Amino acid sequence: MTDTVIIAGAGPTGLMLAHELALQRVPVVVVERRPGPTDALPGMAINATVVDLLHQRGLMDHVGEYGFEFPRAHFAQIWLDPVRVPGRHGYNFVISQTNLVRVLAERAAKQGAEIRWEREVVDLAQDDAGVRVTVRSPGGQEVLTGRFLVGCDGPESAVRRLAGIDFPGQDLPFLGIVGDLEVGEDHPLLAYLGAGEFPGGLLTVGPLEPGVVRIATAEFDLRPADRTAPVTTDELRDSIRRLDGAELGDATPRWLGRWDAATRQADRYREGNVLLAGDAAHVHFPLGGQSMSTGIEDAVNLGWKLAATVHGHAPVGLLDSYQAERYPVAARAGRTTLAQMVLLHPLGHVAPLRELLSEMVELDEVNEFLVKLAYALDVDYPVPADQVAGETHPLLGRRLPDVPLRTGAGETSLAELLHAGRGLLLDLAGGAGPLALPGWDDRVDVVAAAPSDEIDAARVLLRPDGRVAWAQPTGTDRTEPTEGLGRALATWFGPARASAAG
Ligand SMILES: Cc1cc2nc3c(=O)[nH]c(=O)nc-3n(C[C@H](O)[C@H](O)[C@H](O)COP(=O)(O)OP(=O)(O)OC[C@H]3O[C@@H](n4cnc5c(N)ncnc54)[C@H](O)[C@@H]3O)c2cc1C
Repeated sequence: MTDTVIIAGAGPTGLMLAHELALQRVPVVVVERRPGPTDALPGMAINATVVDLLHQRGLMDHVGEYGFEFPRAHFAQIWLDPVRVPGRHGYNFVISQTNLVRVLAERAAKQGAEIRWEREVVDLAQDDAGVRVTVRSPGGQEVLTGRFLVGCDGPESAVRRLAGIDFPGQDLPFLGIVGDLEVGEDHPLLAYLGAGEFPGGLLTVGPLEPGVVRIATAEFDLRPADRTAPVTTDELRDSIRRLDGAELGDATPRWLGRWDAATRQADRYREGNVLLAGDAAHVHFPLGGQSMSTGIEDAVNLGWKLAATVHGHAPVGLLDSYQAERYPVAARAGRTTLAQMVLLHPLGHVAPLRELLSEMVELDEVNEFLVKLAYALDVDYPVPADQVAGETHPLLGRRLPDVPLRTGAGETSLAELLHAGRGLLLDLAGGAGPLALPGWDDRVDVVAAAPSDEIDAARVLLRPDGRVAWAQPTGTDRTEPTEGLGRALATWFGPARASAAG
């Protein structure tokens, strides 16, 4: 078997994972059944968590030119005010999923990942050593061998089915249409720009480029006559009429597709050498950019753990921490998006509750709670009990805001120090020099920086995904590595190199 990691699906999750693995010098092959990049992708925005994760790898520098900052958030389309939340907290970014995917594909390839289009995973076998993946292409079938296969192949995931993993949950009666329309200057649909709620469901119209709008209809309590049939212009026309009596008028579709209101989650994220991430592992109603953020943070969580396993220095249980950390996040996203659906339909019934909630979000604490939920900034990972024994800290398991830092080499930022995807011991104690970690210097960088008011710790150990693995309280002993730091290093990075241990 080879060390190659095979990824099924070149969506945002698969490409982010390919980037993470290639950054760690793991051979990666992405197989994608589409013939090439497509404009027919539904997403229009990424939330603050995705923005942070992209900054952390320097990818916002490439994504930035395709969109704009949108410092708003909503809960069930009740608008929140992120600007009122104290501290540094990021922003939503409006970008089409098409452009996001294009940039991620370019950056992953630049790091060395190989993307093979028009290759569909159709069969799978595995043993202790790795996987054999049968892939169909126009030229016939071939078998790829690798160490791991990661199914990032979306809601209908073939990898999940072939691995025998269930996908329990619920599908509500729903008729959803999404697509891009070429419209004239005074087109009647332009009066609907934004996200509107109606008794039958939702109508969202967003500007995509001059003369083109992205439209999404969502009708609750209805089902398409044939879910597999292509959407026709007449079907879209009828849907818009049912929602608000509006007329589609003279509009030319560039593409139209269907979407569902399913909330489902794989019963496990790993079966031997096969793992799942993104929509292949969980689906929920797409509200507020939580969908891609759950998938992209899956990829960032999994990438360095798979890489450590392939490179042979993963501590016991590292790969299993992927499910332990990420399953509860998607489960909560499923629950909180279901809660939002309850607030959206039937509108007449829930209107008083929406009115009450609209008043409540004027309260700073309610606004902050919901902004953090929509931005996925409230996600903490549980820290293994044997690691913390006696040494706990409120920052453990959290991501830190991207704060500016001053080091001996000049001005930098926390995100910049994480670009290489390595562990980072950030020494903010202001002492004579940073701690030395000779046994881990192949995996962990040590950087001393001037103390920051925005990080309440003397030292923090960050994992490659930016999560705090250990923190030393401000004002405590500055000179000696503590036992807790040693335990955290061993838990997340494995034992010290034998040659450096003594
Ligand atoms: C109307 C609508 C609007 C949305 N808006 C947003 C938004 O604004 N923000 C947001 O965060 N999310 C949004 N979402 C959700 C978002 O689109 C998904 O969460 C996201 O696409 C999931 O990414 P993924 O990479 O996990 O899966 P996918 O994007 O589904 O990618 C899976 C890939 O795998 C490929 N594939 C499938 N089967 C195989 C196979 N057997 N072999 C090889 N390749 C295969 C597919 O062709 C596809 O390219 C929206 C969804 C909808 C329906």
